[in-house]
Order: sequence, then structure tokens, then C-alpha cells
Amino acid sequence: MSINNLIQRSHRLINVIFALVLVLGIAVSAVVYYKGDYIAKKTADLIAQEVPAYDLLSKLNNSLIEQERFFYEFYATQKQDDFAQGYLVTNQQTQRVFAELLVRFGDIPPLEITQNSLQELNKLADEFVLNIIAAETNWDLARQQLRTITDVRRATSPQIQQLITLTENKVELSEQVILNGLELVRFFVVLYGLATLIVAYIVAKALKAYLSTDARNQRLSLFSTRNPNPVISLDSRNVVTYRNPATKRLLDILGFPEDKTEWLLANNIGEYQKQILEEGKAGSKQFEYQIEQLYFQCDLHWLEDQRQWDMHLTDITERKKFEQELLFKASHHPQTGLLNHYELEKTVTQLCESEQKFTFGLIEIRSFSQLISGQGLTVASTVVEEVATSLENILLSIDKEGCRVFHVSEKSFVLVCTSDLSNRQIDSLVQKIDQRISSTIFHCQYQVQLDFGFANFPQHGKNYTQLHKNSLAALDKSASSRDKSHVLFNLKLGEKLLYEQQLIDDLRVAIDRVQFELYFQPQMALSSGKIIGAEALIRWQRNGNWITPSEFIPLVERAGLIDKLGDWILHTACQKAQNLVSLGWSELVIAVNISPLQFGRKDFLSKVKNVLKETGLQAKNLELEVTEGVIIFNEQEAIETLAQLKNLGLHLAIDDFGTGYSSLSYLRKFNIDKLKIDQSFIQDIQHQTADQSIVRTIIELGRNLELKVIAEGVEELEQQEILAAMGCDEIQGFYFSNPLPEQQFIDFLQQHKTV
Ligand code: C2E
Ligand code: CA
Ligand code: CA
Repeated sequence: MSINNLIQRSHRLINVIFALVLVLGIAVSAVVYYKGDYIAKKTADLIAQEVPAYDLLSKLNNSLIEQERFFYEFYATQKQDDFAQGYLVTNQQTQRVFAELLVRFGDIPPLEITQNSLQELNKLADEFVLNIIAAETNWDLARQQLRTITDVRRATSPQIQQLITLTENKVELSEQVILNGLELVRFFVVLYGLATLIVAYIVAKALKAYLSTDARNQRLSLFSTRNPNPVISLDSRNVVTYRNPATKRLLDILGFPEDKTEWLLANNIGEYQKQILEEGKAGSKQFEYQIEQLYFQCDLHWLEDQRQWDMHLTDITERKKFEQELLFKASHHPQTGLLNHYELEKTVTQLCESEQKFTFGLIEIRSFSQLISGQGLTVASTVVEEVATSLENILLSIDKEGCRVFHVSEKSFVLVCTSDLSNRQIDSLVQKIDQRISSTIFHCQYQVQLDFGFANFPQHGKNYTQLHKNSLAALDKSASSRDKSHVLFNLKLGEKLLYEQQLIDDLRVAIDRVQFELYFQPQMALSSGKIIGAEALIRWQRNGNWITPSEFIPLVERAGLIDKLGDWILHTACQKAQNLVSLGWSELVIAVNISPLQFGRKDFLSKVKNVLKETGLQAKNLELEVTEGVIIFNEQEAIETLAQLKNLGLHLAIDDFGTGYSSLSYLRKFNIDKLKIDQSFIQDIQHQTADQSIVRTIIELGRNLELKVIAEGVEELEQQEILAAMGCDEIQGFYFSNPLPEQQFIDFLQQHKTV
């Protein structure tokens, strides 16, 4: 039952009770009035009649006794005058009282008897007076007469007593009537009092209920009045019936007219109302919606008894913006604002599930680590941002419909084109991007080169992981061959990937079981023809076939196994070198190849120290061959490590010199001993003048920097002669020796001049 109904019913009840109490009041008043009047009359009667009657009767009695006394005094004194005077007065009084009594009681027997007694007394009085005043008073008679007078007088007493009793009875009767009347009045008064009490109780209760309801209503109304959030009531036709002050403030903020509260309703409020009504009587719903630039949470309630909607709005703009910001951050790369790898994975997974054909294109900034180490992180970041913008602009300008660009890692972007692009289409897309990027001047004049790798769904991968892996394989291949016209993944590449994976699996086992060997390729000083040392080269047989280290070392690096293998190589090379020293070749230097990953480890220096200690090899018998790639991770650290290694007293050579950075600036900073000219410059040196000039320049450079220069890959006498003529210090190559197993190398040393 609603509060209003309750109040209405209480009001009705109170009115009825009031009416009843009023009627009862009037009735009681009437009864009390008439009864009171009656009692008053009865009392007045009592006072007016019965009380004087008492008085008269007692007066009569007294005057008779007084009269008798006068007789006795007269007998004693015989003073006639005194007697006559006293007796007369009392007799008159007696007569008067009697007359009054007669009026009051009427002719009733006791009075009749009394009257006779009085008459007799008068007669006796006359006889007595005559006897006394006689000359000869008969005193005996007198005494006789006195006795008779006394007897007669006494005879009146029962009559008077009878009259008194009669009066008493009358008084008693009246008293009873008055008492009865009073009893009735008291009953009515008590009844009325009780009725009033009951009414007062009921009224008090009703009043209390009313007051508390009223207080609650007031509190409720204050609740919405003081509520800082908008509260709006609507009738069943969505006409606004109430709005609190906060609603008005909101209209102000939104710049809406003051009387347009309905503009604050959600467009789809009807749907929620329908749901609430369908669900049950007093339901509610919570939903969010936007008004202009603000977001609100609406709590909508249906009040069935009042047939009205109550709407409570809460401004959730801040939260919503924060959520959107979080959502944006979660799905976009912080640096470029492009969609990130999470979004990529999500998009690709959805596309795969929908079985729609699409193309997945990986784009990477080439030599990004060098960009960072050379130009610094800030420049590198700016370049990345510029590349991102360029990629977006290019896609827009070439109108590649359905192509989206994602920024997945620092240097990597991914294109997802929701159509299955052919090889030709991909080539043309890559060409367009490449041309635009190469013609763009980036921050600090940096020339950006991109590498591409593409894979199509579903031919080249059935899920994100496969597509990513295969596009990366395509990218690696195209990057290593620098051929941008074959960036789409193909099955051959897939087979290669598979083969490599198998190779990695086998390498893992081989490393665990140490199934490798170290060969030694002698190195010779051109001036003396003496063997000065050898390069240690790793050898691995897989299923009876030799696998070249150029093939498996990068895989070992990729699989994260190079530390373990590198440790074994260094340790074994030092052991064997120490063996040679102990066989008498104390000046031989054994060169060990060190992978940039190995070199970059924090503990590399201590590892070298330990190995020397463990094997007992002197540092002067060890040479480390590192490539220019060692500075990839951290140039400063590389310089420091090289200096510390140098301090140990070992030799340092830059391997494959001329193919990498070829930046001469860092060469001065490196504390090294030797440059090792890459074999690609030697291969055709007898025919290629370009190679000759490069080699000559390197030799010159070495001389200027006081570094030794060794040429590797010398296969022919002619090559050796050219190098000798150029002033190259040392050579290494098949011409005078292949890499040899340990024992054969020892044999070789025994047959040749050595240092
Ligand atoms: P690298 O350090 O440049 O090694 C020289 C490579 O040239 C060796 O190939 C060697 O056998 C080969 N070679 C020597 N003389 C001639 C020649 O006259 N003509 C030709 N065409 N080649 C010649 P290998 O042993 O197959 O090693 C290939 C690469 O594998 C090495 O190149 C080096 O980068 C890596 N590698 C080999 N052994 C190790 C090792 O123990 N540790 C590390 N980290 N890498 C190694
Ligand atoms: Ca080498
Ligand atoms: Ca080399």
C-alpha cells in the first residue's frame, strides 16, 4: 500500500473517531446537565425542607423541656411573674414551632398526638398555676401535677422521635437519589474521559505516523533537492513532472533552454522503459549515454503506484574519458598513435576466423640499431614517428582501400590489406612506398631504408603467428639479398624455415652432447713465410654431412644458444693452443671468432680471464676476432671491453673488415691490433681493380694506424703475390692450407717454418 493511500485512510478513520467522540461528548454533556440539574434540585429540596424540619423538631423538643423547667422553678420559687413570663415565651415558641411543623408535615398521626399532648400540657399548666397561686397550695397535688406534666411532656418525645425518623428517612431517600444521580454522572464522565483517552491515543498514533511520513517525505524531497546529481521524474507519457535544482544547473552547463528538461533524456530511453515494464512491476535499469560532450549513467526506476519514472543521472564523463584514454593506450602505440600489436593480433585473428582473404605485410626500418647507436635514441624516435606518418600518408594517397597500418615494435610496422594481393600488386605497393620513403628527407638528413616481407592468408599462414613468422622470413630473405621485388613469402622459403627449425633442434642436441670439433687454419707472415698462428673454426657433422658454420652459427645465435657454444669454443681453443705451446710453439697465436652477442655480455671479460686461468694459456697466444657488429648494442661499452681485453695482453682483430660499417671514425677509438680484410675483396682481386684499390686502402689504413693487416680467402699464388706487393702483413687461405683438424695442424706445423 502506498504512503498516500495510508495517509488517506488514516484521515478517514480519524474523522470518524472525531465524529463519534463529538456525539458521545454531546450526549454525555446532556446527561450530566440534566442529572446535575436534578441533583441540584434534590439537594435544594433537602436543604430547604428536611434540614429546617430537623431544626424545628429539635426546637420543639427543647421548648417543651424548657417549659417543664419553668414548672419546676415555679413550684420551687412560686414566683408567678417569672413563671408567667418564661412559660409564656416558651409556650408561644412551642405553638409557633408546632404550627410550622404542621405546615411542613401536614396532618400526620405523630403531630396529632403531639398536638393533643400540647393541649393537655396547657390544661395541666393552668391547673398547676391555679394550685400554686392558690392561697392554700396543695403541694401533694402540685407534685402530682408536676409528675403528670413530666409524663405528658415525655409522651411527646416518641412522637418527635418518630418525626425525626420520618425526616431522616426522607433525607436518606433524597441522598440516595442524589448519590445515584452523581453515580450516573460519574459513569458518564469516566466513560467520556475514557473515550477521550482512546481518541487521544488513536489521534496521537495517527499524528505520529503522519509526522514521520511527513518527515520522511520531506527528507526524501530534500534528498532530491539537495542531490548534486540531476533527478528527473516523468509521467507514463514521459512528460517531465519534477526536476531537482541540479537538473537546472546541467541544462545551464549544456546551454539548453531552461524549460527543455526532456532534452536530457536518452534517445533510446523507450527501449529501457519497455524492458523494465516487461520484467515486472517495480523494476529499474542502469544505462549510459551521451549528451553533447558529456557522458551520463542513468538509473531509471518505474514507480508503479505513482505511475511515474524516476531518473537519476550521474556525470561519468571523467571516468569515461579515462576509460577511453586507457582503451586508446591499450590499443595504440604510445610513440606514433598507430594501432599496436595487440590490435594487430586481434584484427588478424578476427580476419582469420571470418576466413576472408587478406595480406599481411611486415615493414621494418633497416639498420635501426645502427641508427640508435649512431644518432641517438631521440633522433631514432623522431625518425620512427616520421616513417609512421609517411606510411599513413602513402596509404591515403595511393588509395589502397582496406589497408591499415599498425606499429608493432620500435622499428616494425605491419600492413593489413583486406584483399589478397598478388605478387605483382605487392611489388608495386612496395615500390611506391620505397620510392616515397627514399625521396623523403627525414630528421637529421637520415636516409631511411625499409625492408619488406609479405604473407597472404590463408596460403602462407593460417593464423597470426604463422603469418608473422612467414612474413618475417620473407623480409629476412629480401633484406639479405637486398631484393625488393621478392618480398612475398613462398613455399620454398617455407621449406627453408622448416629446415632451419629442424637444424636448430639438432643443434640443441649437438650442443648438449658437445658434438663439435675445432679445426685450425694456419696464418702466414708474408715477409718471412713463417706460420704465425691459426684461426680456430668450428666444424659440425649432421647425419654424416658437414654443415658450414656460416649456416648454423646464425641459427645458434637466433636460438639463444651461442653463449653455451661460444664458451665451449673459447675454452677448447685455449686448451688446444696451450697444448701447442707445450709442444714448443710458444709464439703461435690462435684466433677465436667471437659472436657479437657473446661479446656484448657483461661477463665476457671475466669469462676470458677465467678461461686463460683454467687452461694456463698466456694472453699473448690468444687472438679474438670480432666483427664491426660488436658496437651494435652499445658503442661505448664495446670500446671499453676492447680496451680491457687489450689490457689482458691478448690480440684483437677486426674480422670481415670492409663489409660492415666501414666507418673509419670508430677505428681510432678501438684499441685493436689487426684488420682482417674480408675474403670477398680477395676472391677476384687479380681481376678487379676496384677490389685492389679497396684492399690497398685498407693496407694503407692499417699502416697509418699501426695495425697489422691480414687477408683471408687467399686461394691462388697470384692473389698472394698481389697482397705481398701491396705490403699486406699476413695471409690465410686454401692456397697454402685448408682449416685442419688438430693433429693435422700439428703435422702441418712440424713441416713448416714457424715463429
Ligand atoms: P670467417 O670468420 O670469415 O672464417 C673464414 C671462413 O673462410 C671459414 O669458413 C674458412 O673455412 C673459409 N676459408 C678459409 N680459407 C678460404 C679460402 O681460401 N677460400 C674460401 N672460399 N674460403 C676460405 P667457415 O669455417 O665455413 O666459417 C664460416 C664462418 O663461420 C666464419 O667466417 C665465421 O664467421 C663463422 N665461424 C666459424 N667458426 C666459428 C667459431 O668458432 N665461432 C664463431 N663465432 N663463428 C665461427
Ligand atoms: Ca674469422
Ligand atoms: Ca672473415
